[in-house]
Amino acid sequence: MKKHNFSAGPCILPQEVFKEASQAVLDFNNSGLSILEISHRSKDFVDVMEEARSLVLELLGLEGKGYKTLFLQGGASTQFLMTAYNLLQTKAGYLNTGTWSDKAIKEAKLFGEIVEVASSKDSNFNFIPKGYNIPKGLDYLHLTSNNTIFGTQLKDFPSTDTALVCDMSSDIFSRQMDFSQFDLIYAGAQKNMGPAGATVVVVKEDILGKVNRQIPSMLDYQTHISKSSMFNTPPVFSVYTSMLTLKWIKKLGGISAVEELNEKKAKLIYSEIDVNPLFEGFAAKEDRSMMNATFRLLNDDLKEAFDAMWKEAGINGINGHRSIGGYRASMYNALSLESVATLVDVMGDLERKA
Ligand SMILES: *Cc1c(COP(=O)(O)O)cnc(C)c1O
Repeated sequence: MKKHNFSAGPCILPQEVFKEASQAVLDFNNSGLSILEISHRSKDFVDVMEEARSLVLELLGLEGKGYKTLFLQGGASTQFLMTAYNLLQTKAGYLNTGTWSDKAIKEAKLFGEIVEVASSKDSNFNFIPKGYNIPKGLDYLHLTSNNTIFGTQLKDFPSTDTALVCDMSSDIFSRQMDFSQFDLIYAGAQKNMGPAGATVVVVKEDILGKVNRQIPSMLDYQTHISKSSMFNTPPVFSVYTSMLTLKWIKKLGGISAVEELNEKKAKLIYSEIDVNPLFEGFAAKEDRSMMNATFRLLNDDLKEAFDAMWKEAGINGINGHRSIGGYRASMYNALSLESVATLVDVMGDLERKA
């Protein structure tokens, strides 16, 4: 039986995508060959790559606005250094909203001066700092749109002349916004788009080529742009499966249709967290993430019973990250409202039994 999968990443993908991807492993497009054994230079695969790249721009509403899409390797973690390598000449600003921002800062420090414009580290990142000052003369400001571990999410983005770089690993394609406010967006595939292995980068071409350092070819965005994301062998399976997920989003009606469902799921879980006296939310209410809901039991004595109950209900992956403990329900695009309702029922059952 298929589990209700709340895993934080790698995570649930649409069941039909899993089916189509498995079929392509056996026989891709009735070619008598697996997607895994054909040349990445073959027309069939080049078409996949081009479709994936253009679907990204189409879904984000960025067609014809000077952006390029790349599918790179090395995860979002490689983007922590690659963004700085390519964009940081003297000084960049970072909003520190969690473990991933913290890691991005650490890497960027290798390339120049870093100004932490604000941080919620002192309160274990349970809120998003607001009303901070953005100093003049930054090469860019780096933001993390959704803090996967702590369950907070940026609802507003600063309006500024400074170039904006955003790590959207855990909420890309989950909510509608004006994506043209960003100059560079990156996201590891494994949290809303496809299997681990690919990282999507959407970059405005005119912000590149401004630093005067030598950049190794593999770490230079311009290399990958000039080779249409085929400088070396791309992660073919991850790109193919991501393309299927992007088509699935488009078929559903695009990001706004997906967002509507995501809002319903978030509302359902958070109202249970607020109403049920056994539980307490972790993140500040106004900053709660629509993707990752973090909460805990007020009485740890109930943990054993609760854990047994959700496992019995076919739920998977709600243990919280080790840095905050408790529980985390990750509700990425492909998770159904029924799965969230199942979890909410279990929480309610615990209250009735306790
Ligand atoms: C998971 C995650 C990362 C790290 O991604 P990798 O692909 O494993 O390097 C970075 N940023 C955010 C916001 C994440 O959720």
